[in-house]
Amino acid sequence: MKVCATIPEARAACCDARTSRKRLGLVPTMGALHEGHLSLVRAAKVQCDAVAVSIFVNPTQFGPAEDLSKYPRQFDRDCRLLEKEGVEILFAPAVEEIYPGGAVTWVVVEGLSEKLDGRSRPGHFRGVTTIVSKLFHIIEPDDAFFGQKDAAQLAVIRRMVRDLNFPVEIVACPIVREPDGLAMSSRNAYLNREERSRALVLQRALQKARQQFDAGERIAAKLISAAKEVIAGEPQVALDYFEIVDPDMLDPVERISQKTLVGVAAYVGTTRLIDNLVLEP
Ligand code: AMP
Repeated sequence: MKVCATIPEARAACCDARTSRKRLGLVPTMGALHEGHLSLVRAAKVQCDAVAVSIFVNPTQFGPAEDLSKYPRQFDRDCRLLEKEGVEILFAPAVEEIYPGGAVTWVVVEGLSEKLDGRSRPGHFRGVTTIVSKLFHIIEPDDAFFGQKDAAQLAVIRRMVRDLNFPVEIVACPIVREPDGLAMSSRNAYLNREERSRALVLQRALQKARQQFDAGERIAAKLISAAKEVIAGEPQVALDYFEIVDPDMLDPVERISQKTLVGVAAYVGTTRLIDNLVLEP
């Protein structure tokens, strides 16, 4: 695996990979890798001839009161995991390499960026779309792999790719869960034992909505109130949102008549966790 810390190194390695092989896949991450990230890498290995992974804890997508400084960083371990998966290129730049100072240009997907997580985390998606644009320009992948776990992020990125004509195919990969159902996340490392077990309430709330849907309920408000009751039953878990939305526009739907995204975000102690599922009538 070629480890690149600078943009010219990464460009050269990716250019080589594209010419000597054919399809180049990109898996953007913030590191502290788990099976969720590795599932994206494996999907990329299947679909592409060479795979580049980026590890960059992107400061511009963190709010001032968020967890940028304590975000888990495990670079050596991440390298070993990626080597084992047969990744060809790792791009792991320093903050100054990506944001050398003086930059005043942002990529903003208007409207969508203020929905779901964007509403609770102002500026978050502006940071995401800006770094993903930079990575697309540096790596020039044919395919880029993202997790369904971050469903709003996926909608925002798809829209950006469409609106700005990026020549890249966005591939969505299913949510990878712990055996007890908790969606894998680098932030799960923040949870103490008690919080870890309380965190399962997100999954229970989603399952409650699914059960009602399976029993024939199609009114979104009914599913939402049943799910919110489940969350309310768990002390020390503070709901951020539980929403039922169109998966592309992220606007709330009243009746579930087509493919619909059910998303939840909640604070377990001070840790903000998200999860979702898709309902298809
Ligand atoms: P992150 O390192 O949190 O920025 O995540 C990098 C990529 O991994 C994003 O596309 C996430 O959606 C994806 N990802 C994170 N957790 C999971 C998971 N449990 N299952 C599938 N994909 C995931």
